[in-house]
Order: sequence, then C-alpha cells, then structure tokens
Amino acid sequence: MDLYKYYSSCGGVVSTDTRSIAKGSLFFALRGANFDGNRFALEAIEKGASYAVVDDAQLKDQPRCLYVPDVLAALQGLARQHSRLLNIPIIAVGGSNGKTTTKELIAKVLSKKYQTFATRGNLNNHIGVPLSLLSIGVEIEIAVIEMGANGPNEIALLCEIAEPSHGVITNIGRDHLEGFGSIEGVAKANSELYYYLLNNDGVAFVNTQEEYLSRMASRFSEYVSYPAEKDYYTCKLHNADMFLQVQAANGDIIQTQMIGAYNFNNIATALCIGKYFGVPDEAAHAAVAEYVPSNNRSQLLRTAHNTVILDAYNANPSSMKVSVENFAQMRVNGQKVLVLGDMFELGNDSESEHRALGQLIGQHSFDMVCLCGEAMKSAQAVLPQAVYFPTRQSLESFFTVYPVQNAYVLLKGSRGMSLEKLVPLL
Ligand code: ATP
Ligand code: MG
Repeated sequence: MDLYKYYSSCGGVVSTDTRSIAKGSLFFALRGANFDGNRFALEAIEKGASYAVVDDAQLKDQPRCLYVPDVLAALQGLARQHSRLLNIPIIAVGGSNGKTTTKELIAKVLSKKYQTFATRGNLNNHIGVPLSLLSIGVEIEIAVIEMGANGPNEIALLCEIAEPSHGVITNIGRDHLEGFGSIEGVAKANSELYYYLLNNDGVAFVNTQEEYLSRMASRFSEYVSYPAEKDYYTCKLHNADMFLQVQAANGDIIQTQMIGAYNFNNIATALCIGKYFGVPDEAAHAAVAEYVPSNNRSQLLRTAHNTVILDAYNANPSSMKVSVENFAQMRVNGQKVLVLGDMFELGNDSESEHRALGQLIGQHSFDMVCLCGEAMKSAQAVLPQAVYFPTRQSLESFFTVYPVQNAYVLLKGSRGMSLEKLVPLL
C-alpha cells in the first residue's frame, strides 16, 4: 500500500491521539504498554480523521481503515520516505545532556538565514522522531532533529528513520544508567550517531573539549571541530558569574540570557553550526543573545522573596554535578540554598550515585541544603548537615512554616519530583 499517497491527501497532517484529532488527518493506531490504538481507530475516523492506519486484522474491511502488518513500522517507514523526499540538510542532535537546549539554540541561529524546522518540545524517541519528521513542510530548508536514547541500538534506529546528513553529540554523561549499564554503554550507544554519519558521508560536529567525543571522533578522517583554538570554530566562555558572556570567534562578546557554565557548550555548538551553514556572525550572535530558556531548564526567576534557579526539568549524575558546581561558583550577594530531589532511572547505581552527590555537595559551601526523596537518603547519610525530606510535600510544609527569603535557591531533581511546584512558596 502506498501510504505516502494517503499522507499527502491528508495534507501531511498526522495524529495518534483521539483526544486531539486534527480534521482530515491520517491517524496511526499505535500500540503502547497499556493501550491498543486499534481500539480507537473508528472513533478517530468519527472525530474527523480521513483514514486510520491499523494493524488489527479485524479492522481490515472497515471503511477508511488502512491495514498494515505493523503500525509503528509503517509510521517510521513513512517518515523515512518523507525525509528523503524533502532532500534538505537534517541535523541530528544526540547526547546525554543539553539536547533540547542545543537543538533550540541551533534552530534560533539557523532561522536567521533559513526556513528552519526543529523538533517541538522533547519528541525525541522512536515515535517522536517520525512524528517530527512528518510535520516538516515543503517550505522548510533545514531541519534540526533531537534524538534521545535509553539503551543500545535506539540511536541507530532513529538514524535509519531520519537519515541525518549532519549530526552532533552534546556530551557523554551518566544518564539513564539503568538502560545503558555504564558510562561506556552511554558512549557506545551515542556513538551510533557518529557511525551512521561515517558510513553515509555525513558531517559530524565535534566538541573537542569533551574527552569522550574527541576520542570517538578520531575514527573520522574529517569532522567539523569546535570550540578550542585551531578548531574550525573557536569561542570561549568570557564570564559565568550569572548570565553567561561568550567570546565569539570574531572577538565579539555575546551577552546571553542563560545561566550555568555548562550552557557554554550548547551555545558553542550552535555558533559552530551557524558558521558552517553560512549564517552571518552578527545574526548568529543576536540569535544567541535573544534566546531565553524555558520549561524549567536553567531558568532564572525573580520571585517575590528570592532568586530561583529553576533547573527542575530533569536530573542525572552528570547534569547534577555541573549544576551544583556551577551554583557553588556563582557570585551572588545573598545566601545560597540548595534544594535537590531524587535522580531516577539509575538502577543499581542509585545508592552510590546519590552518595557521591552528597560527597560532592560537601566539598562546597552552601548556607542551607535540602534533600528530598527516597533515594536522597543515601546523599544525606554522608552529608549530615543537610535537611532531609522524604517527599516534596513535606518540603512544601517546611517552606510554609520556615519561609526562605532574600536567598538564591537552586531547584533541581528528576522530572517525577516536580520541584517546580515549590516556586510559589519561594
Ligand atoms: P532529555 O534527555 O530529557 O531530552 P536533554 O538532553 O534534552 O534532556 P535539556 O532539556 O536541554 O537536555 O537540559 C536538561 C538539563 O540538563 C538542564 O536543565 C541542565 O541542568 C542540564 N544541561 C544542559 N546542558 C548541559 C550540558 N551541556 N552539560 C551538562 N548538563 C547540561
Ligand atoms: Mg530533550
């Protein structure tokens, strides 16, 4: 069956959720751990979908149902076909930390010269990537696609679907250890992006100051390097006291609205890629200066009583480390309060990683440390000066009784801890 014909007749609009069916769209009846989209196929058509792609044989003869052996494979195959037909540069963004931020920065810079598409939000998995690709319109000249992985072979699959022409790995860190086993596992899984590019005449952008990355990239005869001296694109961190200032290749100082020295790497990636694709310096620098982080990622908020660094979008040992160290080094006039929640998905390493975090915090000086969540018990065990709360709710009660005032507060924890809910109390 030529699904592409149906996709085109639906104006390139795809839906997967009957709660938000776009009129005239092509519905994909995906199966999940707890649901079977086939059961909603007829409802999708009733609600306005033009066709439903199904893999339940019982729906074979239903009008407007398009039967395929496997809906997910059909979605991925269609996305590949679309990506090929678009025939534009596709830049894949993989890595442990900073993918979404980097993707957004790259898109901001490229938008100064091209009609640019970037993955919306965090749609970076085996379903999100095909959906992203299928939402790229014909007017688009360049696309930036985020790729996430929880285990081996996932990035390879995403590359087979998106067929990127260019790619960057932000870094190799201690994320999703449960699925990867070890940091070597993380490096190997991410290197699938490099391998894909290597085998398909693609171009890799490589941060030579990231040890794992430069080692992995040594297999390439050629790659586009940054940000050190003698690299293809050179820039450096000028100041990280609060909002970062970056010295660009031409010497200009870019005043950003971003905090966290770790964001320098994300900015450098975007500047390097902008240079490579011919975005004029001035426009690229303006794009970086204009970018304001959102969605609880390293946001600086002036609340009624405090200054809050809201980094509650997610947490893993490497992003925790850079965030805590950055906060320790920040020059502020006021007390520093560290509020950290559990890091999830660490499997057997959870206890040791939380203990290591406790030790790391102990090497720095903070006016108050609040640790929250079941796993943080292990951090508190080596950091007796920290105040421990089993749940976020108990921490909320504490802040209600003992309000924090005139302080700088760092909030960071895994998504499920929802530490952003503390902001109204600060
Ligand atoms: P996810 O795996 O959830 O998609 P991501 O890789 O897209 O995450 P971001 O959402 O951009 O990452 O950032 C999440 C958090 O990671 C930030 O709030 C910050 O704490 C941290 N972070 C961002 N960039 C870096 C970096 N270059 N190195 C280390 N940590 C970073
Ligand atoms: Mg992301």
